Amino acid sequence: MITKTHHILAKLNEELCEDLNKNKLVRTRAFFEKLTKIKRLIRKCINNNLCSFCGDSVYYLKGNREDHNYGTEYLVSGLCPKCQDEEMKETN
Ligand SMILES: [Zn+2]
Repeated sequence: MITKTHHILAKLNEELCEDLNKNKLVRTRAFFEKLTKIKRLIRKCINNNLCSFCGDSVYYLKGNREDHNYGTEYLVSGLCPKCQDEEMKETN
């Protein structure tokens, strides 16, 4: 489920990328404020068991090694396994 939080998150991410492209050296106060906001919104998604990118419901089974890895990453990025795999593809 894509919520208002997701729209704000997407917009903030976009702005942050623009800021980075404009000026790679100077990190402004506004930059860090956006980063803090993004972290807060991701936390909100995690509290609601939602993926911070696609909005899917996220549930992890305990004791499954693969789930454990995804689960650890989920607590950082708020991404569901599907989106984590997509992100890995992009980075590699
Ligand atoms: Zn997702």
